[in-house]
Amino acid sequence: MPQNQVVIGRFAPSPTGPLHFGSLYTALASFLEARSQQGLWRLRIDDIDTPRNIKGSGELILTTLERFGLHWDGSVAYQSRQQAVYDEMLGRLASKQLVYPCVCSRKQLSADIYPGSCKGRLIGVGRPHALRVKTDTRTISFDDGLQGRQTHHLAGQHGDFILKRKDRIMAYQFAVVIDDAEQQVNHVVRGFDLLDSTPKQIYLQQLLGLPIPRYMHVPVIVDSYGYKLSKQTQATAVDLTKPGAVMFELLALLKQRPPPELQDAPVAELLEWAVLHWNPAPLFQLQRIHR
Ligand code: GLU
Repeated sequence: MPQNQVVIGRFAPSPTGPLHFGSLYTALASFLEARSQQGLWRLRIDDIDTPRNIKGSGELILTTLERFGLHWDGSVAYQSRQQAVYDEMLGRLASKQLVYPCVCSRKQLSADIYPGSCKGRLIGVGRPHALRVKTDTRTISFDDGLQGRQTHHLAGQHGDFILKRKDRIMAYQFAVVIDDAEQQVNHVVRGFDLLDSTPKQIYLQQLLGLPIPRYMHVPVIVDSYGYKLSKQTQATAVDLTKPGAVMFELLALLKQRPPPELQDAPVAELLEWAVLHWNPAPLFQLQRIHR
């Protein structure tokens, strides 16, 4: 990234429930990474997967972030308002013969890597189908800010992946690439669980001629059983009654060693300290952190 380019980070939660501790951890990491470099920090509500959305949780997420002093720049972006752009970009790939319809059901596919069964097959219009992108033998490499050099062979390790689902909803991999470009995000900080998605996203950026951001995958917070805190594991909403104490704990789990005298400090003071002292190096190559 050119030295004088403003860092633009983002947080992109899905509105599938209130913000839980693990998501707030990632939000804080990306906020600190951007703000410590005088960068911008944008917010996007990833509400494309409509069946999974929970009414009101988008607003709740915004309130929670504000309560923790994580103020974003500009207006909030919503994936649900981006359909026209997604369609146009998908059209671009289709016009280059890089996309094909797939009627395979999940049951038919036992392996993780799609074997390409529908590639080159004639599929009647009107039949419900997903759209897959053709992968090739190229190598995708990137230097993750924490996880080090990553090298993937898309065709062999991932196979042709879905851009638009059978239920006509755009797939996460595709939408996120368009959104990050639209929001001019050049530094993506997110959880380690998404590390494997990055080569697919870089591939799509290459195909679409979009800029490739820098990536940093921070460890995910796991419970005492080793499970990632997520809405699926019924992680509870963050405690809004004691934001300072939660912030202190988050900073400690980000291995930032906040001084003990800040234990009872208000959130704003803790954040000020954290922006000034932010150093992600102690998280190097960590994949999981126990709460
Ligand atoms: N919306 C995704 C999620 O909540 C994250 C997207 C991303 O950071 O790329 O898991």
